Amino acid sequence: MSIFGNIFGQNATGMVDAGGQADTKEGAAPETAVQKSDAQWREELTPEEYRVLRQAGTERPYTGEYWDTHTAGVYQCRACGTELFTSNEKFDSHCGWPSFWAPLAEGTVRYIHDRTLGMDRVEVRCAACDSHLGHVFEGEGYGTPTDQRYCINSVSLRLVEKEGPDDAPSGN
Ligand SMILES: [Zn+2]
Repeated sequence: MSIFGNIFGQNATGMVDAGGQADTKEGAAPETAVQKSDAQWREELTPEEYRVLRQAGTERPYTGEYWDTHTAGVYQCRACGTELFTSNEKFDSHCGWPSFWAPLAEGTVRYIHDRTLGMDRVEVRCAACDSHLGHVFEGEGYGTPTDQRYCINSVSLRLVEKEGPDDAPSGN
């Protein structure tokens, strides 16, 4: 199954077409579980977190905290704490950003057709607080189970390391 079929075919549920410039008018935010004003986000987030999460910015490649991390654990949304990705789906894409071949579960992220910067991309946002996470690409030949690459900013995530002995299967 491909999310791209849904996105580029018919409008998927909850799909928003944000082709133009991001508009951060007050009250324009979609209905999400976490509702905060722009002022609240500014107060709670660092300037870099705010720029990426709330203004759909992108951190510079190879500079983020997690692009080369192999620690077992769960990656939460830096803005609201929702669990979004796990280390089980993280893979080495060598693109300079943390890369996952699938989200933790269906519905934890939402997709927005992004035509900014002259590119046709699919933006990935946290479904709970509508913060920007990154983009998802497909068909790049990475040899992962989905052939998708969720290219996510480190600053959008917070890794919560798995507790206790590492009993995750490795090297299979
Ligand atoms: Zn969130």
